[in-house]
Amino acid sequence: MESMSNPIKAIKGGTLIDGTGSEPLKKSVIIVEDSKIIEVGSEGKVSIPSGAEIIDAAKQIVMPGLIDCHTHLYSYASSNKATGFGLIEWSNIDRAIRAVVTVKTFLGAGITSIRDVGCCANIDIAIRDAINAGFIPGPRVVACGEGLTITGGHVDSDKHIRFAAFENIKIPNFKTIDGVTEVLKAVRQQIKLGADWIKFWATGGVLEATERAHAQEFSDEEINVLVGEASRAGVPVCVHALGADTIKICIEAGVKSIEHGIFSDDESIQMMKNNDVYLVPTLIAYDLLSKDENLPKATYEVARGAIIAHEKTIKMAKKAGVKIAMGTDSGSPYTNIHGECQAWEMELMATRGLTEMESIVATTKTAAECIGLGDKTGTIEPGKFADLIILDGDPLQDIKLFQDKNKIKTVMKGGIVYVKRP
Ligand SMILES: [Zn+2]
Repeated sequence: MESMSNPIKAIKGGTLIDGTGSEPLKKSVIIVEDSKIIEVGSEGKVSIPSGAEIIDAAKQIVMPGLIDCHTHLYSYASSNKATGFGLIEWSNIDRAIRAVVTVKTFLGAGITSIRDVGCCANIDIAIRDAINAGFIPGPRVVACGEGLTITGGHVDSDKHIRFAAFENIKIPNFKTIDGVTEVLKAVRQQIKLGADWIKFWATGGVLEATERAHAQEFSDEEINVLVGEASRAGVPVCVHALGADTIKICIEAGVKSIEHGIFSDDESIQMMKNNDVYLVPTLIAYDLLSKDENLPKATYEVARGAIIAHEKTIKMAKKAGVKIAMGTDSGSPYTNIHGECQAWEMELMATRGLTEMESIVATTKTAAECIGLGDKTGTIEPGKFADLIILDGDPLQDIKLFQDKNKIKTVMKGGIVYVKRP
């Protein structure tokens, strides 16, 4: 980290992909003053202040830092993909220490903002505050804190401890709540403790064959109370919702983003569009699950079905003009390689219905807007934070390039260079 660096920087000569989806601008100049971008334009048209530190980006690509709208800091990257929930012996303190490393890993991968959509013990809130205070390096963190589930719900830890497929791992404790009174209390507690968003799980998942992906968890009344209470406090709500019927109920209640949304139908997609609700698909989560050779056959079938439905959903959403934002489930089982799965997701989006440029916009501008940072980051425009990356190679030609960290030469967040690779 270059803490004593020149407050005025000029990033010069690179081809600019600004995150808005516009045509790349060759031989660009970006002027950064302190933490913000103050001017953007073509070389020769933008005057470089005398004494500015010149960052030469000739023959390189400059673009906004990557943004992941769906991460979980409770786990830790491991070559054993099934350890995503964390090993059974991990305490919340173990998880918090690992999260400090995870956020540094994110910066190394060019990720300058994340939303954590469910973290035990509100670790993500503590991490957010430590980063904002300058104690530890990391991306901007939008924190949901502890997510909310029901007894026996998708992430009820007492249920998951019995999962045959995940021996020796344990899902962390989220808030398990039942009934309107407990729902109200949990939402108010989370807001009191500093959650930026409220996250809840409204359907089952596809972690194992016995889970009911379409089955609604939380009653209609509980969902309305949950979202209503958060909304009254001005706190947005995101929801894990797979089945179309539950997606509709959640949109009617007022959620701001649908996570996964796998089994959407025409009507639920249209409701997303009409209500300005974001779709965060997380394709990679189900892809990697289906690739595990040790997976029980029944679970494999469920995962394959989810992949096919998901691709259909993303195509319907694009056609309807729904805003699609990049998310990975980074930290959940199988996707748990923090800082790796984001590049995989970008490739999947670009092969399952979006173009390379649309995949980039989903990971920059739309992602920033989805998590409420649209006025601060996500594009290279004057007034925004200087959150940007400089690449060797063109992701419009080769979207896979993010998978090679050596191609991500510079990572800047808020005008400070955190990563510089030779
Ligand atoms: Zn998740």
